[in-house]
Amino acid sequence: MDKQTEFVLRTMEERDVRFVRLWFTDVLGFLKSVAIAPAELEGAFSEGIGFDGSAIQGFARVYESDMVAHPDPSTFQLLPWRGSTQGTARMFCDIRLPDGSPSFADPRYVLKRALKKASDMGFTFYTHPEIEFYLFKQPVVPGQVPTPADQSGYFDHTTTSPGADFRRQAITLLEQMGISVEFSHHEGGPGQQEIDLRYADALTMADNIMTFRVVIKEVAVMQNMFASFMPKPLSDQPGSGMHTHVSLFEGDTNAFYDASAEYHLSKTGRQFIAGLLKHAGEISLVTNPWVNSYKRLVAGAEAPSYICWGQNNRSALVRVPMYKPNKGASARIELRSIDSAANPYLAYAMVLSAGLAGIENEYELPEGAEDDVWSLTDRQRKALGIDPLPRSLGNAIDLMESSQLVADTLGEHVFEFFLRNKKAEYEDYRSQVTEWELEHNLPAL
Ligand code: GLU
Ligand code: MG
Ligand code: MG
Repeated sequence: MDKQTEFVLRTMEERDVRFVRLWFTDVLGFLKSVAIAPAELEGAFSEGIGFDGSAIQGFARVYESDMVAHPDPSTFQLLPWRGSTQGTARMFCDIRLPDGSPSFADPRYVLKRALKKASDMGFTFYTHPEIEFYLFKQPVVPGQVPTPADQSGYFDHTTTSPGADFRRQAITLLEQMGISVEFSHHEGGPGQQEIDLRYADALTMADNIMTFRVVIKEVAVMQNMFASFMPKPLSDQPGSGMHTHVSLFEGDTNAFYDASAEYHLSKTGRQFIAGLLKHAGEISLVTNPWVNSYKRLVAGAEAPSYICWGQNNRSALVRVPMYKPNKGASARIELRSIDSAANPYLAYAMVLSAGLAGIENEYELPEGAEDDVWSLTDRQRKALGIDPLPRSLGNAIDLMESSQLVADTLGEHVFEFFLRNKKAEYEDYRSQVTEWELEHNLPAL
């Protein structure tokens, strides 16, 4: 038995833990959980816990449905809101087939495979997300416009703000679970909040993001509100993005930093950005996977709509933040497309693979865009070689369908499932007559 497993078993006894939740994520990014009694834990470590994979979105067909969840002891944490005696703990799981081989459908495995490729090239991949979400008043009724929990705006601080109390409790719980928070503030929309997690390796971060979503939803319920990660819940307010700052390290050295280069951005950093730009369209279905995601990516609300990069340019898809002198270790680039409802394992696997493709194939980085690209005309953007991001889920499906990079990174099983599932979502949506049409077309046509 390794040290981490021993630590888990000892902590279980010392802290008198009553339930252990085994967590994993389906292909669409929803958290799954099975609770086991402490007595089952040793068996879970040695043999795993079997479940019916065919009942999980994207996992398996009925005739090959047996799957086994193997808890990863390094992810053991108590759930602080479940009390300190007779409490509940959680661990993330790796999913395997009964013969012990990894399940190709497990998003955690998809990310691990991409990280292995990076490590074969000598790199560790770090990410740091800025997670935005809305708080709404209860009750939230499906089909009706929700009411924001407050009327504040960007960086507002008011003494009796439900947002401030909410962030305080959420951050306390996150930190009790070992998830460090760097910044938090009120975002631009009424009821909209942002919490930024301190950087970590991408696998830990994807686990942290899944935990984050649970904590945010739980705290909202405790405070009689509803938290939503929907990319664009209100038509005339900004959407909720999950801008992610990324960097590659070679040992202790930040591979994106070069003191003598323009913007201190190394050749590796330039190639990584070039990879993100070249593959931006085809990875969009993974970073922005819902019909609603494309309502956020419209010009103006600080979400990107065009494929370009720039220093400190908040209208660009990729931004190179300015670093303080002597802060080479914090060199990073910010990708602004990912939304708060993406599957973080798959999204980070795709972002990494697109960047690595830029490094492997030595892509040239096009000129940076220093203008506000939203205010240019289509013709000006065309002249600058700036293409739009996909404008709809349908558009994103078409681009992903012919992508070798996405097929290789997700693996055939996840790639096929994802396309099938998203096509069904889009067809269902496309066949609906919306309120907008009834308002604009019915009286006139
Ligand atoms: N809410 C904006 C988005 O959807 C981002 C605002 C910002 O933090 O710059 O991406
Ligand atoms: Mg923000
Ligand atoms: Mg940002």
